[in-house]
Amino acid sequence: MSQVQEPSLAALARENWTEVTPQALYGKLQTIARNLWWSWKPEVGQLFRDLDPVRWRQLDHNPIALLAEMTAEQVAERASEMAMITRINQAHRRLHDYLTKTDHTWGAREAGVLGSKPVAYFSAEFGMHESVPIYSGGLGILSGDHIKSASGLGIPLIAMGLFYDQGYFKQHLDSEGYQQEEYVNTKVATQPMEPAVGKDGKPIMVSIETRNGALNAKVWLVRVGRVKLYLLDCDVEGNSPQDRELTSRLYGGDTRTRIRQELVLGIGGVKALRALGITPGAYHLNEGHSAFAPLEVIHERMQDDGLSFDDALREVAQQTVFTTHTPVPAGHDRFDAGLIEEHLGPTRDKLGISHDQLMGLGRVEPQNGEETFTMTVIGLKLSRRANAVSSLHGVVSRRMWANLWPWRVEEEVPIGHITNGVHVPTWLALPMRQMYDRYLGVDWQSKMYDPETWQGIYQVDPGELWETHHALKSRCLDFVRRRLSRQCRRRSEDEAHVDAARLALDPAALTIGFARRFATYKRADLFLKRLDDIAELINDTNRPVQFIFAGKAHPADEPGKGFIKKIANLRNDPRFAGRVVFVEDYDMNVARHMIQGVDVWLNNPRRPLEASGTSGMKVVLNGGLNCSILDGWWGEAYNGKNGFSIGNGTQHVDTAITDQRDADHLYEVLRDEVVPLFYDRDADGLPHQWIERMVNSIATLAARFSAHRMVQDYVKLCYLPAAGGLSSEMGMR
Ligand SMILES: *Cc1c(COP(=O)(O)O)cnc(C)c1O
Repeated sequence: MSQVQEPSLAALARENWTEVTPQALYGKLQTIARNLWWSWKPEVGQLFRDLDPVRWRQLDHNPIALLAEMTAEQVAERASEMAMITRINQAHRRLHDYLTKTDHTWGAREAGVLGSKPVAYFSAEFGMHESVPIYSGGLGILSGDHIKSASGLGIPLIAMGLFYDQGYFKQHLDSEGYQQEEYVNTKVATQPMEPAVGKDGKPIMVSIETRNGALNAKVWLVRVGRVKLYLLDCDVEGNSPQDRELTSRLYGGDTRTRIRQELVLGIGGVKALRALGITPGAYHLNEGHSAFAPLEVIHERMQDDGLSFDDALREVAQQTVFTTHTPVPAGHDRFDAGLIEEHLGPTRDKLGISHDQLMGLGRVEPQNGEETFTMTVIGLKLSRRANAVSSLHGVVSRRMWANLWPWRVEEEVPIGHITNGVHVPTWLALPMRQMYDRYLGVDWQSKMYDPETWQGIYQVDPGELWETHHALKSRCLDFVRRRLSRQCRRRSEDEAHVDAARLALDPAALTIGFARRFATYKRADLFLKRLDDIAELINDTNRPVQFIFAGKAHPADEPGKGFIKKIANLRNDPRFAGRVVFVEDYDMNVARHMIQGVDVWLNNPRRPLEASGTSGMKVVLNGGLNCSILDGWWGEAYNGKNGFSIGNGTQHVDTAITDQRDADHLYEVLRDEVVPLFYDRDADGLPHQWIERMVNSIATLAARFSAHRMVQDYVKLCYLPAAGGLSSEMGMR
């Protein structure tokens, strides 16, 4: 497929909007397909689906791949059959307006000073849409949601990441229920990417010196609404065959691969910004993967402004914001001295610092030769503002890193918190949005971060809310059944199994969803500890319960794969067949169907290991209720009336005891609260108290846990002070 250049804005403005030559129509769809803006506008995405619903699904909802299979004439013919031409013209004009009319945005009012010196947001993964597979889980989705909200709010922000042409993996289970990983090459031509060019109009390349020769990377540009995301890619001539594959896979490979990827992201990312002619006012390091970046910025300041290393460090730290996401020491990247010297040696030469000084920046105790180099530690040392991602995670992080500030009491450790949020337009189902349009006022989306905006939901007609939810639930169950039969066919199982998959799940039954990475601390297997009791709940003829599970285990995580196997194999037990199901290959598409359609979202991590969690926030928007351990975001969200809590937020020092207690609490809350409330119907057949909880959940949580609120917090508490030289550090608590 030929790469289509996006027409200049001036050319767009000159265009005759009623023109309908096939080429013009095709060109408009191409332009729309090449900006991920379409992915959070469901009615725009439907344009592509309507062109060819079957291929749309088969191609992972990838509009570029879909258009590549059709000629302009075919598109025009189909569009006129489907009466889509006006809709295409309108969508194209809306995109154009969105990109050009920015005066009225919150960012234009509140973050104007960032205009000439934008925020540079670094992250190792970005989850924006299933057709751009460069994410693995929550961290990536958070980054994607962050930049989408920055776009919506009109915040001057550019983003930096890596392009993984094999992404994470596709998951299948074999007939024993064991996870199989398949790596699929993404064709660049199907991605909404174009080569990033410098001021001279030539494609940008960056080169990073190591003690073992240079590592080279090219730079791609992805348009995410108004935000530009740049992705570094090592598959270039001049790199060794091994290095050409360096950025192939997300979280694959050994520690040497890992440090090389992080070198490219951090040092390479800063070099790419310079080549692009961008001078950021603030740097936001989303997790430790990019924490080498400030070293390169320090080098720039020494070179440009003649500063000493210490002075440059002080100034760069002032501009740097660091967000930590990991509440367990083992979750932090650590590198030994040899790897650091091999990869950062040339950088430290330029900085004029010794090997021990550099190692000291990555150690809690700089002089301790036994200590390895930790990315989180250098991130904390090179940033003036650091934050955790929920209130409880803030407490845990201050305790965990207290030794970095031995002269301070724990409460005074300078790590604040900004609780995560989700990008509402991405996760909100269209029928729910249409309902909000009626109850919250037509322009509610422009104030979705304001809790007041959501108060109108108290006026909702309970029957209307319930019916809307039910339509979404049916859609979810249809999707799951379709996936289950596909899974059976893939394993060449007999027709009896395929038929059973087709008949799985009961639309009237209380439906509980659980989907996330199968990291062991998330304890997907917790309910197995009370399996016989859960079996009774499931098989209650009057008040049945059913479970939908999904999630990938990291390829090296055998215990996580064991959880998947146990859960998937429950289908062989007649008590659970068709009532506990496992959907393979969890991605944003599976996530969207599940969070939009379940009655209850289950989250039972081992407290306090879930730094925030975000999937439950997506559920809130669509009327589902959370049933969760009081960990991460739920610890600050739950108010007794807007969902359910498993236990009361305590844990035993012995994890086995904690796990058993939590399993007991899980069973008890289902038996005593969730099931009775769901099945308590009035004469009109509606569960009024349940619906009341749905309303409370939306009214009290939707604004607070939106990514718009989150990005506004980052702007006010971090970006503006960082770019403007203000020195408030504790505002985040
Ligand atoms: C939201 C989301 C996550 C994060 O889920 P948590 O419950 O926060 O772990 C992970 N993967 C996908 C595909 C998601 O959409």
